[in-house]
Amino acid sequence: MPDQPITRATIESYLHDALPPEKAAAVEKAIRDRPALMALVAQVRSETDHGEHSIGAVWWRERLSCPTREQLSMYLEEILDDDHAAYVTGHVKLVGCHVCQATLDDLRHLRAEAAAPRSARRKRIVDSSAGILRDVTGR
Ligand SMILES: [Zn+2]
Repeated sequence: MPDQPITRATIESYLHDALPPEKAAAVEKAIRDRPALMALVAQVRSETDHGEHSIGAVWWRERLSCPTREQLSMYLEEILDDDHAAYVTGHVKLVGCHVCQATLDDLRHLRAEAAAPRSARRKRIVDSSAGILRDVTGR
């Protein structure tokens, strides 16, 4: 089969699951191989999703971009709403975004560092209280 040009209509059909499986697979392979097609898919998706707020539409739209560092931080704090938390989980675990994974690792590291001095400080307070008690009791 000669390489057929992949048109915008082809991509729309692909996105709507309207292609026979072998054709869909060929389109998928072509998209992976050609960054220009990926950009076209992104464009068609964003236009098709316009005004839609279903989880699926949000998923496809946001999948093209990474969550912000602030959102990732909220994700770690477990204060992100369920839809966004599910999105971040999918983005990092299913899509396997290395950029976000690295940001999450960085944020975890910072949180661990921020937690460490707190426990050291608590220990100092306990130690100094013990010192006061020793003074009072004369031991
Ligand atoms: Zn990402």
